[in-house]
Amino acid sequence: MEKYAVEVWENCLKVIKDNINHQVFKTWFLPIKPLKVKDNVLTIQVPSQFFYEWLEEHYVALLKKTIKKELGNDGRLEYSIIMDNSESDPEPYAINVPTGERKATSNLPVSMPIDLNRGNSKEIPNPFIIPGLKKIKVNSQLIESYSFDNFVEGDCNRLARSAGFAVANNPGKTSFNPLLLYSHTGLGKTHLTHAIGLQVKNNFPEKTVLYVTTDQFFNQFVDSVKNNNQNDFIHFYQMIDVLIIDDIHNLAGKEKTQDVFFHIFNHLHQKSNQIVLTSDKPPVEMKGIEARLLSRFKWGLSADLQVPDLETRIAILHKKLYNDGIEIPAEVVEYLAYSINTNVRELEGALISLLAQSSLNKKTITLELAKQMIDKFVKNTSREISIDYIQKVVCDYFNIPIEMIYTKTRKREIVQARQLSMYFSKKHTKASLASIGLHCGNKDHATVLHACRTVNNLIETDKHFRIFVEDLDKKIKL
Ligand code: ADP
Ligand code: MG
Repeated sequence: MEKYAVEVWENCLKVIKDNINHQVFKTWFLPIKPLKVKDNVLTIQVPSQFFYEWLEEHYVALLKKTIKKELGNDGRLEYSIIMDNSESDPEPYAINVPTGERKATSNLPVSMPIDLNRGNSKEIPNPFIIPGLKKIKVNSQLIESYSFDNFVEGDCNRLARSAGFAVANNPGKTSFNPLLLYSHTGLGKTHLTHAIGLQVKNNFPEKTVLYVTTDQFFNQFVDSVKNNNQNDFIHFYQMIDVLIIDDIHNLAGKEKTQDVFFHIFNHLHQKSNQIVLTSDKPPVEMKGIEARLLSRFKWGLSADLQVPDLETRIAILHKKLYNDGIEIPAEVVEYLAYSINTNVRELEGALISLLAQSSLNKKTITLELAKQMIDKFVKNTSREISIDYIQKVVCDYFNIPIEMIYTKTRKREIVQARQLSMYFSKKHTKASLASIGLHCGNKDHATVLHACRTVNNLIETDKHFRIFVEDLDKKIKL
């Protein structure tokens, strides 16, 4: 540090200090070190690029003014920035940037990390590597939390899960090649494929695993055509040991991509590399996919995933809560699992909404809160009310076993539950009188009509009954 520079800078600081508040002064000016003065140029050292930009953006006028005051009209300021490249070079790397010339920053003589995928998120990192390399490094794109441990087993997914598990422990060597998992949305296909990938990497660290969505695969292929490096694209995919392609139905109508996938598929299959695919339908129902590909999809095993039953839904929620270290009352968990029976993604969505509501509004999670939330949630997804569901709610309400409705008994409370079930079914479903009768103990349409009239009469004449009905109506619509 030059003595003269220190002196000049100290004089500057005196002026600056009087012009800004103390905190700003401490933050942005005290860390600056004066280095030298040469040809009327004062060089100051700042701790980072960001620091320099901040000064230039906010205090350039003040700096200019003070420098001119100290060094005369042709006085200038130069920055020396300490570059943070501590890994490769323990010495601070300094560059000089004259003040007032911000463009200089774009030509910094240091290598900046460049995000090659910026603005192009559909592309995966290092899509294909320089051809000729034996060992390739692939970003597998696997999500750690989608493990087998976090995948709850139930009747709904037993075959798919155990086939996936077998494949993960013996990739390419089982008869499940390709393994095709299919189901409606939100039932765990993607999760299970990641679990397979993670397990393979665990068991066989030397194997290359790649998870891609069909859209990524398609986009990469299109890019490779544009860049005239299709061979690199194919070559890259042919080197993967376990190739997972999600939502393969999205290849429908994309003939060129199907063609190239056909070749990759054949190559991998011949080498006994594992292929895992998912789709929203079984191969027989897939439209817009070439026959020769469809027939290959059937070579291995196609396994479907179903909507989990109530117990599995409860177990999934418990697992999720346990993993996140959250506790909520068991009755709330059961209520969520009971009310949301479409798919697991919606179930998780409801749980997250509930947790968010409770933490944002600082309310404890109670059954009441869950009911309010589900009310909105279910309305949004416009759940259909079924006759079975109505019977369940009515019977739960009067605490009688649901089977009793189907019997011929004339016991008053059962008759009432049966009539109410018919009444609400007429009100909330599109079912015909005949079909409602059929569902409620094999009665005919006249009986249903009679039930509806009886209930309407009682609502008008019996205040207590009316309250019952209103209460039940709310529960059914919940
Ligand atoms: P899909 O690919 O079939 O649309 P996902 O795999 O994306 O479905 O699953 C949706 C969500 O449900 C994910 O968060 C996933 O972790 C979860 N999920 C699905 N099935 C299960 C299961 N059996 N156990 C635990 N979580 C599951
Ligand atoms: Mg999916």
